[in-house]
Amino acid sequence: MIISEKDFKKILIGIADCIDKNVDYLTELDAEIGDGDHGANMNKGFKRIKQSLLESETKDIGEMLIISGKVLLNEIGGAMGPLYGGGFVKAGMALKGKSALDKNDVYTLFQSMLESIKSLGGAKLGDKTMVDTLEPFVLKYRESINTMELKDAFCAALSDAEKGMLGTKDLVSRIGRSSRLLERSRGHIDVGAASSYIMLESFYSSIA
Ligand code: ADP
Ligand code: MG
Repeated sequence: MIISEKDFKKILIGIADCIDKNVDYLTELDAEIGDGDHGANMNKGFKRIKQSLLESETKDIGEMLIISGKVLLNEIGGAMGPLYGGGFVKAGMALKGKSALDKNDVYTLFQSMLESIKSLGGAKLGDKTMVDTLEPFVLKYRESINTMELKDAFCAALSDAEKGMLGTKDLVSRIGRSSRLLERSRGHIDVGAASSYIMLESFYSSIA
């Protein structure tokens, strides 16, 4: 299986539509142990990404990711603007010039994004952040593509991402705004882990 540039644009637009459907859920999660802006910021960002992609004629998948990342970096506040924005730009730079993605390119995409988020934010696995969704995803995906095709490897990795996301509920936050709550941050799913999972799930439903 190969993801064409047309498919990829649809994947990104599908993510924007999925975020739109989940705004209230993300707002509620962020209100529990944060400041409640995550749903609105994600939605504003991805609406603008959708608009920019619809206006763009590019067939370069790397360029699509860079356009998306720059929207988040330049126009969206909160921790997610720079973290996801930087991640998208980094992934776009790694895939510059590609008009189709094979299973290894999809690994490059998520691996670059994860590395960028970790180096910018300094979070490690278990700190109760988006990394707890993305890192298990990347590790399982890398292992799975040795023996599986893209779609099946993605499905296996998505399941580990979901476990990681749900697992943030039992963790105490060690980084970002919610870390100020110390022990009181336990018992709530991390909102960034949730938004990362929503994006991955939407990506999968586009390719499945
Ligand atoms: P803010 O806390 O500034 O309002 P958002 O609401 O946009 O930020 O995003 C909060 C999410 O960002 C958290 O749930 C967490 O997943 C993620 N996050 C915050 N700081 C970091 C960090 N340093 N590294 C990785 N992820 C982080
Ligand atoms: Mg917030």
